[in-house]
Amino acid sequence: MFPASMMRDDPPGLPEVSELDLVRHYVKLSQKNFSIDSGFYPLGSCTMKYNPKINDEIARLAGMASLHPLQAEETVQGALHLLYSLEEFLKEILGVDHISFQPVAGAQGEMVGLMMIRACLESRGENRHKVLIPDSAHGTNPASAGLAGFDVEEIKSNSQGLIDLDDLKKHLDRDCAALMLTNPNTLGLFEKDILKISEAVHQAGALMYMDGANLNALLGVVRPGDMGFDVVHANLHKTFSTPHGGGGPGAGAVGVKAMLAPFLPKPTIEKKGNVYTLNHHRPQSIGKVSTFYGNFGNLVRAYVYIRSNGAQGLAKISEMAILNANYVRKRLDAVYKVAQDRPCMHEVVFTAKKFKSKEVHARDLCKRLMDYGFHPPTVYFPLIVEEAMMVEPTETESKETLDAFCEAMLSIAKEAETNPELLLKAPWTTPVGRLDETEAVKKLNIRWKKEASPK
Ligand SMILES: *Cc1c(COP(=O)(O)O)cnc(C)c1O
Repeated sequence: MFPASMMRDDPPGLPEVSELDLVRHYVKLSQKNFSIDSGFYPLGSCTMKYNPKINDEIARLAGMASLHPLQAEETVQGALHLLYSLEEFLKEILGVDHISFQPVAGAQGEMVGLMMIRACLESRGENRHKVLIPDSAHGTNPASAGLAGFDVEEIKSNSQGLIDLDDLKKHLDRDCAALMLTNPNTLGLFEKDILKISEAVHQAGALMYMDGANLNALLGVVRPGDMGFDVVHANLHKTFSTPHGGGGPGAGAVGVKAMLAPFLPKPTIEKKGNVYTLNHHRPQSIGKVSTFYGNFGNLVRAYVYIRSNGAQGLAKISEMAILNANYVRKRLDAVYKVAQDRPCMHEVVFTAKKFKSKEVHARDLCKRLMDYGFHPPTVYFPLIVEEAMMVEPTETESKETLDAFCEAMLSIAKEAETNPELLLKAPWTTPVGRLDETEAVKKLNIRWKKEASPK
């Protein structure tokens, strides 16, 4: 069929590798990774918990995975029904009136929430330009406020690690658009004055934004809407179980009270009789913030997770998350000082300050933890705690796992006293040793050789 001029003279130079060698190559590569399925992953403020496999099975069904986002609405009624039902569940869980699934990350949810606040204030003819954010906040909060066009004003935490009501009131002037709060905050502490805080903010004509990225302490116990929040985003890829990390995929669902509904991103999902439609005709909407429906696969997983746990199961999640964090707190507090020594919520922040006398820092303790087979906790966050180590055990870990982790932490504390050298060059047993993390990001070198480990 082809003319001779188009035919090659020699066979193609494909690598001659057997299927078995290829399989082994890729399996070995996959085993160099650390994951929740291979070990304990107590990364604070990230909720690295077990993601039930049933979620993936359902998300992979052809009726879910093979849908085309440009299909006509009448051919995707099942998918729209799922999204609509998930919205109903989340409204109940968060105590809000509407949800948008458009944002594909927590940080994008924050930006979208703040854009809605801005649109709402502008529609009232108000030009408030300040967002108040506590010094304990996640770094995405001030970044999102900046992107949404606000100036950020920092609120100092008091000696208990909470918002100081009197100090807050001093910041609540006519320029103030919103207070952006994480509750429980990043120290793992519940803002006990939350009702007084929302009252003061609302009295000043500003709105309440909650960073609900991690809802593990609140599910079925307390609802952001009832605490006085007008906008809240929830990371479905954390609390509602989608495997995440390494940059995605995410779903930062945003919930709002009725007053903000006109400004929701478009389209919104609506139900007329038994028919679901996408409403693109929303004149006051802040617009479209992502393509099509958001990350549909994440939304399917969240739906399955909520349906398989049920209302009581969701409340149990919070009880267990809080119990596990407090168990770790009590087992380690004699050796690692807790930043705020009282019961915590779903995570606990230690400080490794005392090891500084041995020239050992939080990062060294954590690198050594990898030799014991555990993923390190979050370090150097929140910023208000010196040498912070933030542990979020999550509700899905057994007492045996928590005990093994605590034993490792205690053993490392001893090493810091007796053999600090061992920590300063750790980890010794991982595929890659101690890296210059800044340079490693900028100059990836996958052929890097590590030092030989000590006797
Ligand atoms: C994870 C997290 C975020 C950001 O969520 P992304 O999906 O990574 O953008 C924001 N705030 C808090 C408190 C978080 O834990």
